[in-house]
Parts: sequence; structure tokens; C-alpha cells
Amino acid sequence: MGKDYYAILGVSRTASQEEIKKAYRRLAIKYHPDRNPGDRAAEEKFKEAAEAYEILGDPEKRAKYDRFGEAAFAGGGGPHHYEDVEDIFRHFSDIFSDFFGEGFGGFSSRSRSSSYGRRPRVKGTDLRIRLNLSLEDIVRGGERKIKVKRKIKAPETVYKTCPQCNGTGKISRVTHTIFGPAQTRSTCSHCGGSGEIIDYRPAGSDENGMIWKEEIVKVKIPKGIREGIQLKVAQKGNDAPATNGVPGDLLVTFKEKIPERFVIENLDLHMPLHLNLPEAVLGTSKTIETPHGKIKLNLEAPVEPGKILRIPGKGIPKLNTDHYGDLYIHVKVHLPRKLSKEDIEYFESKLEDENFKVKSKQKSFFQKIHDLFS
Ligand SMILES: [Zn+2]
Repeated sequence: MGKDYYAILGVSRTASQEEIKKAYRRLAIKYHPDRNPGDRAAEEKFKEAAEAYEILGDPEKRAKYDRFGEAAFAGGGGPHHYEDVEDIFRHFSDIFSDFFGEGFGGFSSRSRSSSYGRRPRVKGTDLRIRLNLSLEDIVRGGERKIKVKRKIKAPETVYKTCPQCNGTGKISRVTHTIFGPAQTRSTCSHCGGSGEIIDYRPAGSDENGMIWKEEIVKVKIPKGIREGIQLKVAQKGNDAPATNGVPGDLLVTFKEKIPERFVIENLDLHMPLHLNLPEAVLGTSKTIETPHGKIKLNLEAPVEPGKILRIPGKGIPKLNTDHYGDLYIHVKVHLPRKLSKEDIEYFESKLEDENFKVKSKQKSFFQKIHDLFS
């Protein structure tokens, strides 16, 4: 499915470059994040318009797009996929300052007050923890409060603009190649790309002006969670060492701690039910503990060893749904290891007893023939 860049900008396919620029300018102002704070849909429109303008605003790219559509850029050279609005600002900084002038939406490289600027936004590092997962967690999900040691900016720490890159986080270098001069941009090594360096840091903080802080973080555990699934608690990682950075994320992985008697198979849960010989012979009722709570079972005599009882909907939920697998209960009959004299006499007396005779449920073919003629 190709995107219709003309439709996105709301211009005809014969629109002049000037009309395209005007249309983009109109949309960029309309959906500008400073005018629509926190509005995701507006941000998407803003990004989409930028993508469309990147192609249609460039006569060469536009000509390719007109001939081949989006396929023209299958091999590269297509629109930049904008990660966030700042990315657009960085990309189009000259167009934007041309459009709006300095100060609108923080396009001035000196603007510190706006949340969107040319200044790169750095992200703090992620933290990782592993939580134990019980069968009940898997079945029911829930919320866990965990203690996390995060690095945060010390309140007294002051950052200043990196003099090496002027706060852009990038260093431009012109190199001379056989094709002529080429400009390359690389991450500023002085500030590590944050555009800022430490101006003041209090005693006890690390080289980035950070200190450790213990915090209680709530982790929502969805039902159906399994080992191998990673959850992300956004922005509960380490703070970014910069004035306007965003914290990293807290990444949560799990280790299943399930009682040995339970086996999970896809969404089904299997467990044994141990009966002694009299229980199997006489029938019994048993209350079993399952992760769904106690379940009472009435087992009619005789209970065949190896019998499997299926309880629908008492297995494991599919992740984040109310769709549950089944519970399978495997009957195991335990024969006595030690018998009293009386027990032995009792069983001996039953060796030839008609009720204790082994009877195969279905008569064999030859048995049937034999019965027929006898
Ligand atoms: Zn720098």
C-alpha cells in the first residue's frame, strides 16, 4: 500500500513547488506539537506531512515518485522515517526557521525553554530486572511493587552547552573525496551527543552529575505472562545526563517458579492426582489445589489408573486475554509397598475370585468365534 503524498499535503498532482511548500507550511503550523501538546494524532499528521514534503518538495524525488510511486524508493533514497518531532526539526531546521522564524517552537538553537529544539534529546540508559513468576501470576496477572535503584540527576547538578558542537550533539566535518568535498556528521565525542556537558556537579555525584536513588516502581503483570516475555516500564530506567533528556526504560524479564507437579503445555495445565488402592477401588472425592483455587472432584468407583480428567477453562490464559486452556488431571494409583499378613491373605483369597478376573473390555476376534461355537 503506497502513501499518497499529494493527498497528505492536500494538493493536486500538478501543484507547483511553491504550492507544495505552502501546503506543507499550513499543515506544519496546524499540527505543530507546540500547538497540540500531547496530541498523538497531531504528531502523526505532523510526521506524515514532513515525509510527504521531503519527497514532493524535492523536484527530483517528486519526478521519481510521480513515475513509480513509493516503489521508486524501494532501494533507498525514500523519505526519512521520523522517530519523533525533534527529528523532523533537525532534518528541516532551515525550512522551519524559514517558515516560522526564530523562536517558533524552539527552533532557535539557543532556546532552552521549549521542549522541542535543535538540541538533541538524550535518553538515559535502560535498567534490567528479573522477577520470579508463580503459577498464580501467570493465571491471574497482577501488580508488583519493586524496589529499583535508579540513577537520577543530582538536584544541584548544572549542565551547560557543549562548546565543541554548540549543543547540537553532532560534529560536521568536510572531507575531500575524488567526487569533491563531502560533509559528514558524527556524534560529538566531547558530550557524547547530548549537546551538554557538566558545568557543576555536587560532591558524591558521578562524572555525569548523577546519584543513585531507590524508588518503588509498580510493574503491571499481564495475565498469561510467561518466561521469555520482556515487559517495558517506560522511563523508569536511569535519568539522562542532560537538562532535557528522557529517562531510559526499566526492562523486566521473568523466571518461572512453578511447583514441580505442574506442567504447562501451550495453554493447558497438567497435574497428577495420587490415589491409593482402596480409593481407586472404592471411588473417592478429593479437593485439589489449582492456581484457579480449590476444585472438588468426585471420582466414581472404580477409578482407572491413568485416567485423565479434563476441566475446561482452568488452564493458562493466552497473554492479555480471557481465553484459557484446560486443566488435565492425571490419575496415578499407588500400590502398597508393604502388606500385613491379613492383607496378603485377603489378596490371596481373591486370586481366583471372579470379580478380580482380568477382563479385556473388548473380546478378541478369536474369543468371539470361540464363544459362538461353544
Ligand atoms: Zn558536544
